[in-house]
Amino acid sequence: MSSLYLGRLKPDERQALISTLHTTQHGNCFICEQAIDLVVHKDSIDIDHVVPLKVGGKDDPVNFALAHASCNRSKQASHLEVARILHRFNNLKEKLAAENRSPNLGDLLQQAGGGNHTLGFKLSPHEVTFSLSELGDNALRSVPVYADKLSGFRFFFAELPIQYLAHDDHINPRSIGPNISKLVEEFHQKRPQLHVPLAWIKSEGGKSAIHVFDGQHKAAAQIMLGARALPVRVFIDPDPDTLITTNTNAGTTLKQVAFDKSVQRHLGSSLYHDRIQRFRSETGRAEDDLSFSERDLVNHFKGQSKEIKRYILDAVRNGVTSDPSNKLRDYIDFGGRGKESPLSYSTIEKSFYSFFVYQEVLETPINYRAEEGENPRIVECNQILRLMNLIAELIYVDKFDPDVGTDKIESKIQKGEKFKLDHLRAFRMSKEEIVYNWLQLVGQVARTYFITLGKPDPMDRLFQVPFPDQVWENIRKFIENLMDLPLWVNTDLSDTVFGGKQNNGFWKTVFETGRTPQGMQVLTQPLNLIEMIK
Ligand SMILES: [Zn+2]
Repeated sequence: MSSLYLGRLKPDERQALISTLHTTQHGNCFICEQAIDLVVHKDSIDIDHVVPLKVGGKDDPVNFALAHASCNRSKQASHLEVARILHRFNNLKEKLAAENRSPNLGDLLQQAGGGNHTLGFKLSPHEVTFSLSELGDNALRSVPVYADKLSGFRFFFAELPIQYLAHDDHINPRSIGPNISKLVEEFHQKRPQLHVPLAWIKSEGGKSAIHVFDGQHKAAAQIMLGARALPVRVFIDPDPDTLITTNTNAGTTLKQVAFDKSVQRHLGSSLYHDRIQRFRSETGRAEDDLSFSERDLVNHFKGQSKEIKRYILDAVRNGVTSDPSNKLRDYIDFGGRGKESPLSYSTIEKSFYSFFVYQEVLETPINYRAEEGENPRIVECNQILRLMNLIAELIYVDKFDPDVGTDKIESKIQKGEKFKLDHLRAFRMSKEEIVYNWLQLVGQVARTYFITLGKPDPMDRLFQVPFPDQVWENIRKFIENLMDLPLWVNTDLSDTVFGGKQNNGFWKTVFETGRTPQGMQVLTQPLNLIEMIK
């Protein structure tokens, strides 16, 4: 909002105000906290209200701050203190992007100087007593211990300094999403927190970190705003398996939290590893024993066979998706709402994982032929990963431009907008119904190799059989030839075949006959796999 006060200042008075603010702010921009040089930035300095006029801020020097004009223009909140906090969060996000991950509560705790102490305590049947000695506060505090009537879980409530809080990324693998900015604004407007974060401790040894596993967004927003202590409900020695299951159900069957599918896979994977441990302890096996099969697990956990089967597949899917060397990741939209990435995670599930992950439980031991490098699940995981990387290199890296994104590309083409051909090709080849069809052909290329040589047909265990180099070469040639087809970059097809969402059968017909089901010629001839691997 424009300032009457600033409007009335003469140039030298304005200069004097700038120089006073510059000194008060130690020479730094109020928003990005980087240096403002009064000479270099002379023409790109803004004076703005810290508290916006529309929420009652004063039009007076006490409410003015200095910022780079660009920072002020791109700020994410009109209140400058909030804008600065969100800017810090963005910096953290960019820093962690280099590690291929997003911030979680643990990162924010660390940034705020928290998460570095364990709490010493004494537990009696009805009370827990603790002190904050690490912070120089030795006063003893006692709070009642309650027991949950139905589950029997014991817990207490306490307000604990952030130094004692830790993020539990096992139970809660989610990172902090962009909606954090709304929560920061909410708390900044002094709205109270309605639900307390949930955490757990281990009572053994009388010393434990407070593992926060739920409510991390609310906790993070308050910590970003400078909260040094938070109220927490702390479970004592809960069964972690039950907590993970509860948290998974909250996100899946109970729909309390909108979990992304990929997060469900991650949790399923954790549950798989927990079930393996439980199986070992319940059957008296050694801690590193892997000489039993997926089938043994399914048989052991009676009444849960459907779940166990899903956990096993989740472990494979999650292993591929979250592998740090996965180059296709950068082109997958995990939230399902973005306009930057060409592939949706749902497409990945319906194509790569549904075609190439063997869907039945294995009868062979989990460590079967692991030392020879021929363990079926490991081979499967590595080969799907290798295929994804090959596809990323051929179609996406340095070709698909996330800044251009995917938003309304076809209708922009129809209005005459031009796109780089590499970008357009990557975009069109990524449509779910199209990937669904050409990726099946990739599978066929691999399978054909074995059949032609008179070897056993791997059928739906295809990716569990190690591919010789020739198979990889055939796949590469097939994809390169597929990419060379003119239709991907033919802008005349924008309002016909690429105009709307077609079904899988539409593209099957196009690839098999060269024509659409309506008879329109799209390819000069049907796809010929034998020709395409030459
Ligand atoms: Zn700045």
